Order: sequence, then C-alpha cells, then structure tokens
Amino acid sequence: MKDAAAPSANQTIYLKDYTPFGWQVEDVHLTFALAPEATRVTARIHFAPNPGAPKQEFFLHGEELTLIRAAIDGQDITPEIDANGLRCAVPDGPFLWECEVEIAPIRNTALEGLYMSNGMYCTQCEAEGFRKITFYPDRPDVMSVFTVRVEGDEPVKLSNGNPTSSGDGWAEWHDPWPKPAYLFALVAGDLVAHPGKFTTKSGRKVALNIYVRPGDEGKCAFGMEALIKSMKWDEDVYGREYDLDIFNIVAVDDFNMGAMENKGLNIFNSSCVLASQETSTDDNFERIEAIIAHEYFHNWTGNRITCRDWFQLCLKEGLTVFRDAQFTSDMRGPEVKRINDVSDLRGRQFSEDQGPLSHPVRPESFQEINNFYTATVYEKGAEVIGMLKRLVGDEGYYKACELYFDRHDGDAATIEDWLKVFEDATGRDLSQFKRWYSQSGTPRLQVTETWSEGTFTLNFKQHTPPTPGQDEKLPQVLPIAVGLLNPNGDEVQPTTVLEMTEAKQSFAFDGLAAKPVASVLRGFSAPVVLEREQSREERAFLIAHDTDAFTRWEASQEMARESLMASVTTGATPDTDWLDALHKVVRDRDLDPDFRSSMMDIPTQSEIARLCHERGHVPDPDAIWAADKALRDTIAKRWSEDLPALLDEARVTAAYKPDAEQTGKRALGSKILGLLNRIDGGAAAQVQFDAADNMTLQLTALACLLRAGKGADALARFHDQWREDQLVMDKWFGLQVACADPGEAAQVTKTLTEHPAFSWTNPNRFRAVFGSLAGHHAGFHQADGSGYALLTDWLIRLDEKNPQTTARMCAAYQTWKRYDSGRRSLIKTQLERIVAKEGLSRDTSEMVERILS
Ligand code: ZN
Repeated sequence: MKDAAAPSANQTIYLKDYTPFGWQVEDVHLTFALAPEATRVTARIHFAPNPGAPKQEFFLHGEELTLIRAAIDGQDITPEIDANGLRCAVPDGPFLWECEVEIAPIRNTALEGLYMSNGMYCTQCEAEGFRKITFYPDRPDVMSVFTVRVEGDEPVKLSNGNPTSSGDGWAEWHDPWPKPAYLFALVAGDLVAHPGKFTTKSGRKVALNIYVRPGDEGKCAFGMEALIKSMKWDEDVYGREYDLDIFNIVAVDDFNMGAMENKGLNIFNSSCVLASQETSTDDNFERIEAIIAHEYFHNWTGNRITCRDWFQLCLKEGLTVFRDAQFTSDMRGPEVKRINDVSDLRGRQFSEDQGPLSHPVRPESFQEINNFYTATVYEKGAEVIGMLKRLVGDEGYYKACELYFDRHDGDAATIEDWLKVFEDATGRDLSQFKRWYSQSGTPRLQVTETWSEGTFTLNFKQHTPPTPGQDEKLPQVLPIAVGLLNPNGDEVQPTTVLEMTEAKQSFAFDGLAAKPVASVLRGFSAPVVLEREQSREERAFLIAHDTDAFTRWEASQEMARESLMASVTTGATPDTDWLDALHKVVRDRDLDPDFRSSMMDIPTQSEIARLCHERGHVPDPDAIWAADKALRDTIAKRWSEDLPALLDEARVTAAYKPDAEQTGKRALGSKILGLLNRIDGGAAAQVQFDAADNMTLQLTALACLLRAGKGADALARFHDQWREDQLVMDKWFGLQVACADPGEAAQVTKTLTEHPAFSWTNPNRFRAVFGSLAGHHAGFHQADGSGYALLTDWLIRLDEKNPQTTARMCAAYQTWKRYDSGRRSLIKTQLERIVAKEGLSRDTSEMVERILS
C-alpha cells in the first residue's frame, strides 16, 4: 500500500554531499515470523561508533513499518518516527539495538522489500528496499554479517549464506561475508529444487539449486548449465572463485527487473531463468545464459566489492555487464555478440543520452535512485570499461583487475578506486579518461581522409552536443581502432588503436603503394556517433572485404541508413547497389549463418527517427513506416528467386539445441521467412507454424502470419496450447501489438487490456503489452494521439501499485521533443496529466518532470 503521507517534497541527493555513517554495524540478527498480513520482523543489531565519521544524530531508514517495540541495551525506548525513518538518542559507545516491527507482504504491490508472488514470500532490497523490512542504515557502505531465522509453514525457507540449522517450522542461515543491506534476501514457499553441483578450483564443493514452483522443474536444466559455465569461466578468466557452500537461484513471477544478485541467493524474474525448447526462443536462451552469468559475476563485482554510494552504481553494473558480454563472446562467438550489443546501445542508450534523460555514467544527483538503473549506467558503463581495456591492453587490464580484487575486497568502493588500480598497475594517467564518467551525451566523431604520395591521413574532430545541465564539453579520450585495406581487399594495416585526446587530431600512415580504404572504428571501439562522408562504392567494398566483422556490418548499416533516410526525406526508392552488395554476403555459404543474418539487420524505425533528429529533420513516423515497408518489399522481390533455397539451407535437421550454431541458422531462417512472407502471402509461415517443435520457429511463423493478415487461426491455436503458461502468454500478448498495423496498434492494445488474462499488476504482463506498444514506433506515434492516451491511462493506474515499473515505462516519452508540434502537444498534455495525479510516486514524478524539462 502506498502511504498517502509519504515524503512530500522530493528531495535531491548529491554525490558531493557524501558522508559516512556514524556507526559500524558489527552484526545483524533477524527473525521473521511470516504471515501474509502481519509478518513480525525482530532485529538485534550491535552498533559501535565509526571512528572515521563526523558526529551525527542516530538515524535509521524505515518506511511503511509498524513499530511494535524498540530497545537500546535492553531498555525500551520511544523513538521519533517519520515517513523516512527513525531518530533517537544513543549511548556514546557501542550498544545493542533491538527492534520489532510488523509488515504486510501481501499488500506490498510495489515489489520492493518483502512481498508475495503467487503465494510465495520473496524480497527485493536493491536499491532501498531493506528499509521496508526493518529500521536500518540502508546504504551500501554499511556492511555487516547477517544471521537470519525464518519461521513459517512453508516447506522451503531460504536466506543468504549457508544454512546452519533447521527444524519443524523454522530454518536458520548465516552469511559470513559482510554485506550491505541491499544484498539481503529471503524466500519462503512451496518450491522444488533442481539441484546441481560445482567444485571450485581450490576444491570447495558447492551445492547449487534452482528453486521453482512445482510444474516448472522441466525448465531448469539450461539455467543450471549456464550457472556452472559461469562459475568455471570466472575462475579461468578472472581467477574468481565462489565463496560459500551453497548457491541458490529462485524464480519468481512478479519482479520489477530481470534478476538480483543477493549474496548466495539470487532472485530471478522467472522470464530470465526458466527455459525449454517448447516455450523459449533462441533469444530467450541467450539472454537467460547472459543474465545468470551477470548475477553470478556480481558475487565479486558488486558483492565482495560493493559500491560506496548509489552514485557509484556503474562500478558494479558497468563492470558486470562488461564481464557478462565477455562471457557470451566466449560461449557464442564475439562477432555477432558485439554487433547485437552495439544495436542495443544505439537503440536504448543513444536515445537516452540525446534527450532530456541524459545523465553521466556516474550521475551527480538524483531524487529516486530506482530511476538510474539505466542504459547509460549499465551499457555505456560497460563501454567505458571496454575502452579502458583497449587502451591498456589485455595484460594491463587483468593486472589492474587483480589489483582491484586484492586491494578492495570487502570494501564499498568508488570509481576513483577503480581508476586508481589501473593507474597503479599500468602507470597511465587516467585523469582525462575519467571524463567518461562525468560528461554526459554521445560524442560526435567526424573523420575525413587525405592521400598524397604514399601517405594516408585520417583527420578526426570530436564534439559532444550540450545535454541537460552540461552546456560545455571537453574532449574525451577516444580509442579509435582502424585498419586499412588495399584496393584488392587485402589488409595493409591490421587493426591498430589510435588514441585521440584532442578536439582535432590527425593520424598518418605512410609508405603505402596505393590509396587504401580505411575501416574506421573497428569493433565499435568507442561509443560515439561516427560521421563520415564515404562513397557508396567504398561502402560496398567494405561490405565485401572488411576483415573486421563489426565494420563490415556497419558498412551495410550505413548504406541502409542512407537509403532509408533518402526514402523518408525525398521519397527515393531503395538503394539497389546496397542490396546487391548485401545479397552477395547473404548468399556466401562460407560465412557463418549468424553473421549473414546480422548483415541483414535493417535499422529500426526508431533509429531512423533518431537519425532524422540528429540531422535536423523532424521525424515523420508514417513516412518512416512506409520507407521501412518499401525497403522490405523491394528486398523480397529482388531476392525472390533465392529465398526458398536460403530458407532450406537455414533449416536445422538435428535435434534442437539452443547453441550458437543452431541459433545462427534459425536466425537466418527467420529473416528469410520474413522476406518470403511478403511475396507468398504467408504460405511458408503456415507450413513452419504447423510443423514447429520449438518456440523460435513457432513464434516467428506466428509473427509472419499476423503480418500477412492470416494469423487468426494460428493465434487461437497458440492461445489454446499455451494458456496455462504465463511466460508464453506474455509472448502471445506482446506479439499481437508488435505485429499490428500502425493504425490499429492502439486498438489492439486496448482490446488486450480487456482480456481476462491481462493481469496488469504483473510487471511482465504489463510490459509485454505496453512495452510492445511503446516499441511500435508508427503505432505508438499515431497522429491522433490514441497510443499516448492509452499508455498514459495505464501508467496513471499502475503508479498506485508499482511506482518503479511505472517510472521505467515513462521513458517511452523521452524522445517526445523530436516530433512535430501536433504530436509534441499531444504528448505534453499526457505528461502533464501524469504530473497532476494526486499522490504520484516519487519515482514517476521525477521521471516525468525530467522528461518535460
Ligand atoms: Zn547487475
């Protein structure tokens, strides 16, 4: 329940105001007597003065708690309590704090703190959820050893660390590793375990479990394998071993985010761990593997070394995203992984960084920290680590990481600590590099070339446009990976990293026999917008010959973007030179199918909208939709003779496996089917739908049928087959919106909200429907404003239940200033309608105010 009397004025918190907490917490003992309406939480905590802190009043965070009793050194006290926490007088020296509170997990719909999901108890404490469990210094720099007793009838009762003892109706856990409260977790319910085991390189035997609801046991094997691979990989690559006797993962259906790295007890959104051939797509499998790895890797980057304060969030998230990307590259091949990550970065982070929500990788202020779990902190944060690694080299990188783990194990650290280990391990001065953490916005990098008498010169200029609160930008350190190709396609200059530090800088290559073709920003070595005038011949040449997979893909993307932009702005027809260059690659059987499939990526409509904006045009969603359609139709016709054979080639005959090889083939097959579908009226899709023995084939076929206007029967069959499976039903909901014609998207969405299975308080279901609407560029941005009005109605409704998910979904409006005045004013009206809502949460009000500003 939202407390109507919650903190009124939204307070801004600043990085520069950091002060340590005045006490150390020596140990924490918690007892939970579980009951849905009235759970009793009893805390016994030893506090001792923190010699390194300035004198301050004793304040413990606490929200929505009913205090039953508080005592200091055995004496009952009456503390002063407000909506944010508690104050009281305390002795000068160490003391014992005892406190009993009551909470109502069944009424906790915000899904922060202790709540219930399908009859099971679970917790979510990052970032500031522990204060909804008991009064506590709920800040990451306060670390302590927790002992937890769970009392209740539930057959399974879990917490962090190792199990110590249990009996009828109770279980006790002890976590020997000091941790901040945000890593606390508790789970209790009727759960079954899918067990596994792992022996660490120094011989520790670790019991592994994935806990799920009865009925989901058959969807755990893949996750378990991924966990074991992650444990091994972190030992092999980073030398990091696991440090408890048990590692548990629990799947829950109601969860605001993907998953959470609680010490020894990771809690997962069930969509991010449960997997089976029949119910999960290849993309789901890859994502699950990555998230399991991500949460596991947090054990060192996040848990053993945590963050001093929430401004340092990228210290754990950027690094852990970087590590999970390395893992996926090793498991599935680096080339397509990099391409996908760049697409994702451009799709989410660039839009964020080029609009009103732009903020540095390390923000300097916030009202609600939940609003800063962003693509900038996570994905740009990971890019920054990738640049650092390129600059210092692999050896320097692992040496610095080793030093980081040695020096800071057990610490709540900062970005300064992180950069210092790189300076100390490599002798480099990183003061300019540090701007990547403080300067927001996407740098533009312009490149021109000159050629004379055997010398080829690349001339670079960098410039970062102003962002909210930052008008002036300084030059950043840009590692620019470059290679040179001969006119015959041979590489004359293998990849080399140019280090740009000035606003303008040139780099020369001499002794060349002929003018080379430059392949610039290989591997997307810096997260910038590259502006390069280049002939279509040269781009086609790079599509055919580039030895770097990323720049080869990018050359095709460039041609695609230019072609689409020309259609949108001048009504031009698609660039057939590009299509022919691409066609050769797609037909090249010596190339990996996964790469061929990536080469066929078409820039998304929202990317084209962003590009329009970057180039000073007002994006017209209908024109962008039409350009996209014309392009796809043209490709389908132009390649029509090859499509059946390509589809055949992409067919997997072996038993289903979600590995890189089969996944790549099916990805190519899906792209080809999408084209064929435009000329065969859904015939091939129907065949595939009827024969599908896995979700990848079934779902792509269903999407094609819907797009061909032949989906009614398949949709009904799909529904009947999967009505009991919530995760598959999310796909059923989302796909109908995603595949709707633009003029119908809002109406389709509205009809789905009236479906009896639209359980809107479930974040996955809400996101399946409204995330798909917001992701349907032309459908969401219909000129009549129907998409905006519908989304807003539901955001206003959801905010009362779940502020965090509401606030995140408001980001659908972050690009609003790009559009024409009609759309702008429609959106503005909707945003103002949200702000005007009485009792609006802090999360949503901060988001909407920033978007409006
Ligand atoms: Zn993370």
